[in-house]
Amino acid sequence: MPLHDKFGRAITDLRISITDRCNYKCVYCRTGNEGALYGDLPFEDYLRMARVLVGMGITKIRLTGGEPLLRKGVVEFVQNLANLRPQGLKPRPEEAVRGAEAPLFHEQLDIALTTNGHLLADLAQPLKDAGLSRVTVSMDAVDPDRFTRITRVPGGFDHVLAGIRAARRAGLWPLKVNCVLMRGFNEDQVIPFGMFAREEGVIVRFIEFMPLEEDRVWSPSTVVTLDEIVARMAEYRPLVEIPHGRSETARRYRFDDGIGEIGIIAPVSHPFCGHCSRIRITSDGKLRTCLFSVWDHDLYGQMRRAASDEELAEFIRSVVMKKEERHHIGEPDFVPASRTMVHIGG
Ligand code: SAM
Repeated sequence: MPLHDKFGRAITDLRISITDRCNYKCVYCRTGNEGALYGDLPFEDYLRMARVLVGMGITKIRLTGGEPLLRKGVVEFVQNLANLRPQGLKPRPEEAVRGAEAPLFHEQLDIALTTNGHLLADLAQPLKDAGLSRVTVSMDAVDPDRFTRITRVPGGFDHVLAGIRAARRAGLWPLKVNCVLMRGFNEDQVIPFGMFAREEGVIVRFIEFMPLEEDRVWSPSTVVTLDEIVARMAEYRPLVEIPHGRSETARRYRFDDGIGEIGIIAPVSHPFCGHCSRIRITSDGKLRTCLFSVWDHDLYGQMRRAASDEELAEFIRSVVMKKEERHHIGEPDFVPASRTMVHIGG
């Protein structure tokens, strides 16, 4: 029986933060002073958690952080994850049409990575060879000077661009570039990013800024909303909305001439909690059921107490039953999450 929460949502997506260290200090995320707060675990501990969860119905794992590519051994970790087989047997597509006699097989685990791309150029091909399916690179400006002002690391832009191009060469597809827009800061990058999507052959996705930053500067007025982004992009070229999967976070658009795709992730103006299929493991091994959870659940603590796999599964099932129905961003009863984004894993 796949993992479900009490609202009937199937939990199929797991995000694992493998470090809360980061080599960038993006102004909308970090204070600029702090390093890791919670630390990280040996890969074999994340692997055990992943194995138990894949046995419970997880079909997709996204590695994140902090900056996941800072961890030595990440390629071998991906290789080990790729050996896990999701539950359930499916007919091979070409054999499915031949009917019930067709042999069944275990699907591949979908392994994705979210990275700032700074170290990706040298790692894209090894990660692909190890079994990584796809990558999302965070990049908040296509103008190098603005990029530096945001990340507070000089010279990063060229590294990230090289990383994006290496990922494309390695066949890590779909290749997505995520941009968080903040009012008065980089909202003028909308059209340049539209051009970038077309020129570089990547899917650019804009993310509405959420109250998960260390500096507590969020207010509703800092959010550049989906409607504004669509309107601004239409000044460049008309957009046509295209279908997106139910549990997909982004609304998807193509340009009218069919060249270039953009997506908009709008958790603030158009929340999608009703279809949420995600849980998260933090770098220190805590299970979180929502980005905005005000508590986390000590999965690693269970392991330290020598819990068996069955006991871990029971613990996970009971935690998933507590998954929040939705977030309360912008509402009078909003309570900030117990951790900021960099210490959760985006
Ligand atoms: N270091 C990796 C990276 O840069 O992609 C992974 C971790 S980072 C925390 C994951 C994503 O969260 C990035 O795309 C980042 O832009 C996004 N993010 C961070 N703070 C955010 C916030 N307050 N609202 C929306 N997105 C945020």
